[in-house]
Amino acid sequence: MTSQQLPDKGLEIRLASRPSGWPAHENFDAVEAPVTAPGDQQILVRNKVMSVDPAMRGRMNDAKSYVPPFQIGEPLSGGAVGEVIASRSAQFSVGDHVLHQLGWREYATLDANKAVTVSADQAPLGAYLGVLGMPGLTAYVGLFDIAQFTEGDTVFVSGAAGAVGSLVGQLAKHHGAAKVIGSAGSAEKVRYITEDLGFDAAFNYKDAPVGQQLAKAAPNGIDVYFDNVGGDHLEAAIAALNTFGRIAACGAISVYNAAEPQPGPRNMFQFVAKRLSMRGFIVLDHAERRHQFFTDVAPMVQDGSLRYDETTVDGLRNAPEAFLGMLRGENTGKMLVNIG
Ligand code: NDP
Repeated sequence: MTSQQLPDKGLEIRLASRPSGWPAHENFDAVEAPVTAPGDQQILVRNKVMSVDPAMRGRMNDAKSYVPPFQIGEPLSGGAVGEVIASRSAQFSVGDHVLHQLGWREYATLDANKAVTVSADQAPLGAYLGVLGMPGLTAYVGLFDIAQFTEGDTVFVSGAAGAVGSLVGQLAKHHGAAKVIGSAGSAEKVRYITEDLGFDAAFNYKDAPVGQQLAKAAPNGIDVYFDNVGGDHLEAAIAALNTFGRIAACGAISVYNAAEPQPGPRNMFQFVAKRLSMRGFIVLDHAERRHQFFTDVAPMVQDGSLRYDETTVDGLRNAPEAFLGMLRGENTGKMLVNIG
């Protein structure tokens, strides 16, 4: 493609203001912005599908964390897959599909070394943002490396109908868990977890205290808790864990929109009494596991033994709504935005 044919403008979603508590539409701006032609060793990508992730909520705050905060007036960013429409890198040709981190915009100009090729023949493009992408690797690393899952364990996972949780439970079942229990926020999700994903038990955390429901679902206790939620789920899991139980601390979505710091579990002495361990992790630190993950998981996706679902919202202008909807629990499986 010659430079004359490049688009001059494209839509992007910017951070308009920082939320306090729950984010709202007024925190986002949709703006037509000039498209930058790629420089040396750069590519121009037309984004086709992008991810909205819980971690983006943290980046809307002006707080030091493992990734820098979004800046007011700047476009948001996050995982996206698109098609290369101009290339000044020998690594990529026009027409290639690439995964990169400049989502929330129609067109992304980026350094070629910040993109990786993905195959539209091997899997639908959205899968590289979910089951075969960052959430998939999170489930894999969290279960096997962090929680040290072993055959015969009873596993409890919260956020079990979501992108990460749905895979955690299925991987545990596939690798010989004695029992897999999930929690989620609606009766339909409970049905999905047990009937479609094959978990042994599930409950709606909104129906009754988590501790009560977990104790009923796991009368012999649990060995592993994969924590996506924090809060009362974490306290309930600590109570249910057997001696030498392990917790993979993956996320704490129940407190992401809290305006004030929330109290921790009240039963911490159980760590001592039951010799429990809890380890937090960030998937970005585990890139070296990507190859093994792909080798193990891609065939399961292809032969259908690992089920994955997506909830898709159409149109980049609706990306804020997709993000807010995901925080409200409107997704089953991975929440994606179809940019076109
Ligand atoms: P999901 O696809 O699970 O979507 C988020 C879900 O969270 C919603 O669908 C909703 O489901 C649930 N939720 C929202 N509010 C609450 C609440 N108050 N209590 C319980 N559940 C709630 O997201 P992901 O799979 O992408 O992420 C899951 C978790 O993993 C998050 O905490 C995220 O931050 C974390 N994560 C961590 C990574 C790491 O490197 N450590 C990497 C990727 C994700 P419901 O209807 O069931 O309430």
